Amino acid sequence: MTDTYTSFRPSALKYRPQKLDDIIGQEVLVKALTNSIQNDRLAPAYVFTGVRGVGKTSTARLLARGLNCLGKDGTSGPTGSPCGVCRPCLDIIQEKSLDVLEVDAASQTGVDDVRQLIENVSYKPVHGRYKIYIIDEVHMLSKSAFNALLKTLEEPPAYAKFFLATTEIDKVPVTILSRSQRFDLKRVSVRRLQEYLGQIVEAEGRVAEAEGLRLIAEAAEGSVRDGLSILDQVFNIAEGDIMRSDVEKMLGYARQQDVIDLMTGAFAGDIQGSLDIFHKLYNEGISILMLTNRMLHCIHRLSTAKAMQAEGGLLETEKKLLEKLSIPSLTRAWQLILKGIEEIRLSPNEADAMEMILIRFCYVSHLPDLIDIATQGLDSDQKKKSFDHPVTVSESNNLQENKSRAAEKYPRDVSQTLNSGEASKENRVSEITMEQLVQYAHENNEVILATHLECSVAFIEGKNLFLKLKKVQSVPQGFERDLQKKMTAWFCAPWVVEWAADDKALSLQESKEQAQKKRLKDYQKSDTFVKIKAAFPEARLTKISERIDP
Ligand SMILES: [Zn+2]
Repeated sequence: MTDTYTSFRPSALKYRPQKLDDIIGQEVLVKALTNSIQNDRLAPAYVFTGVRGVGKTSTARLLARGLNCLGKDGTSGPTGSPCGVCRPCLDIIQEKSLDVLEVDAASQTGVDDVRQLIENVSYKPVHGRYKIYIIDEVHMLSKSAFNALLKTLEEPPAYAKFFLATTEIDKVPVTILSRSQRFDLKRVSVRRLQEYLGQIVEAEGRVAEAEGLRLIAEAAEGSVRDGLSILDQVFNIAEGDIMRSDVEKMLGYARQQDVIDLMTGAFAGDIQGSLDIFHKLYNEGISILMLTNRMLHCIHRLSTAKAMQAEGGLLETEKKLLEKLSIPSLTRAWQLILKGIEEIRLSPNEADAMEMILIRFCYVSHLPDLIDIATQGLDSDQKKKSFDHPVTVSESNNLQENKSRAAEKYPRDVSQTLNSGEASKENRVSEITMEQLVQYAHENNEVILATHLECSVAFIEGKNLFLKLKKVQSVPQGFERDLQKKMTAWFCAPWVVEWAADDKALSLQESKEQAQKKRLKDYQKSDTFVKIKAAFPEARLTKISERIDP
């Protein structure tokens, strides 16, 4: 292909795919179409759907060329890699082919255009093998235009092929879809797009920072065309090598260091400093929502680094900031900004809303951590522990204690069975509690039974091979017979299950709820909670969870 243009040509045109294999990120489509061409099994009509810029019309145009290409020697058959030099190829490239008709339904929705097409269909192709119709944005056709198209699709001449492209497949009538073969083009992954952009940069004889290309690939959201058009603009503004900062400037991104400075100020409660940085960025033209996204991203990075105790990927300035932060303060900042984004969207003035968020952020940074208050008076070691494992309010508790408690709960023979998971004569059990029974059900993967035992029935008595239960809510029919059979098998003894009445009996679930209520009530009176209440008058105690230290 000779390049007749001397002025700037967009990369999307300059690097337009020349064969099916050049279409990036659509491996399934390329393979399927190549096979169909090779085996001469092309359908009369294809629908290509997907977001803009993923290669729908490029695919259609390539197919048009490939089907009509005669090859360099003028004798080749249809191919997925058109030669680009034969008469049909050149005509199609120069858009003067009489055999390939391209319609953009978005600009011509009248029935007349389609009628023109239909009139054309009775004429055989002039130079090529096939008469090809490419209809872009086919969902925009009017109803009558669709009907006209449908009539053609019902009995297409063997030499006619229809390639329909659309971003909104839902708006294409089912009658059309049912007569076409459909391909869904995927968004191109960030990694694949970054790789492709790298190839273009190289072909242009330029050098680019990988991070910069990644930002472009992310901003393109899976569209090759968008990615290339951003790259073109960066080519224009960057002098020499393309740096990450060039891309950031081009995309209206805040520089990473600015974001960290802003966060450092806000976490330190420095209102003036934070607002100054924000004003500077705002005057440089950053998008405010982009800035909040970057702040969230930064908090996420810091939080995962803190939680995983892996600071390897962080910048020095980030590490310094992280030293002063705890997971609770990071979580609080995350929620504050998330809520702020909503406010920015609702606010008539984004910049005002952003200032309010920063002021609130700074103000909240001055408030003590809940954990700090709750652990006042503890020695520094204990305090650090609570700090790193933020759980609302916890009892001192550990696994070892849990284990010994479990041992108390189960009599020796029962816990042996639990551990070995099998029942033998020595494990004959003639006395049992509800907790043990539930545990057995779980051990034997009887999840539904376990749930019913916990929630639907109350335990009255379980000894001398008699289990007496009360129904608290409905249970499946034959529940007691089923349970009896299972217990007899588990415990190697002929257990009998029967219903009985007892006003006071509670299900496990009910007694747990009662116990929790009592603990909440007791805790309201504790010193710790009184301190918390003094610092946060609106605080309410809603739940007490146990902490199990690793
Ligand atoms: Zn050709």
